[in-house]
Amino acid sequence: MLTRRDFIKIAFLTPAALQLEAKEPALKGTPYLKEALYYRVIDAKKGTVECLLCPRGCTIPEGGSGFCRARKNIKGKLFSLGYALPCAVHIDPIEKKPFFNVYPRSLSFSVASAGCNLRCRFCQNWQISQASPEDTANQPLSPERLLSLAQQNRCRSIAYTYTEPTNFFEYMLDTAKIASGKGILNVCHSNGYINPEPLKSLCKYLDAANIDLKGFSRSFYNRLCEAELGPVLETIKTLKGSGVWVEITNLVIPGHNDDEKTIADMCRWICQNAGADVPVHFSRFFPMYRMTSISPTPVSTLEKARDIALKAGLQFAYIGNVPGHPGENTYCPACKKMVIRRSGYNILEYTLKGGACPGCGKKIGGIWAA
Ligand code: SF4
Repeated sequence: MLTRRDFIKIAFLTPAALQLEAKEPALKGTPYLKEALYYRVIDAKKGTVECLLCPRGCTIPEGGSGFCRARKNIKGKLFSLGYALPCAVHIDPIEKKPFFNVYPRSLSFSVASAGCNLRCRFCQNWQISQASPEDTANQPLSPERLLSLAQQNRCRSIAYTYTEPTNFFEYMLDTAKIASGKGILNVCHSNGYINPEPLKSLCKYLDAANIDLKGFSRSFYNRLCEAELGPVLETIKTLKGSGVWVEITNLVIPGHNDDEKTIADMCRWICQNAGADVPVHFSRFFPMYRMTSISPTPVSTLEKARDIALKAGLQFAYIGNVPGHPGENTYCPACKKMVIRRSGYNILEYTLKGGACPGCGKKIGGIWAA
């Protein structure tokens, strides 16, 4: 277990402090092209390909890029542009991902390459998600070096996060493969917009996933994300069916996805299709990117959403982006005793014993330290 002093020292290190920049200066451009794993040639004469990685299924002519800006057709072959070229590298508390039922109070070595296969108008990281690896300042970092840095810095997990990890799928998969079985978890925060075949290949090495379930209607996904809801639901089912620990984040946006019936429908769906022990994080919206005219979510709306989730049978419903709110704590679903007390990303009290409630002994769903 880390001391508080160790935690603070490490949690605020930047890439420079990790001695990355001194050895390998940030680069513009994409010198480490990696051929994509999931695509097919659809016109060999013209060099046109179809990407099979996500439900968008982009047809990409020679010289063109996919919708995500992270995959490019070069001379009739599809390449991942962000391989081993993260534009963001940080050591974060795992609570920031957010994972609340996975190794609380541990550090997560977090990376992202630029790009995203959605166009959410409320994106919190749009500067790097709505960009191409060809345009961002990138930090060369091989999977081997990434793992070694994570280990040196006593991280319990590697997190593929900040942007959409599907866009740097090959980098994530190669890193996850070498990290697997080395006492370090592979976790991701994803929009869930990925095809079943690549997802299943990733699940072999993935320990936990936080999936953004951004709304629970087709029209929400169509209007605000330029995407479809169905594939995201399929991803949640596939992850659970593969034994990956799943948490869900629902950013509650006033007037767009906050009506009580929709939230109740979503919670019932999660209970029935993913399980009552899937933690749901109702996160507070703040004006951002292309939705700056909407006010922050009232805390009372988040409290209502949490009540609805608990009534629907979900065992863990959290309130996010409201530091110090009691909805950040973990309560035993059987005896209701508070077992983890939080404020923001800080753990103030932790009483679980080997993943069980100290009051009634119930095993709490999650991945816990021995
Ligand atoms: S991963 Fe990118 S290139 Fe491939 S289908 Fe999705 S948006 Fe298109």
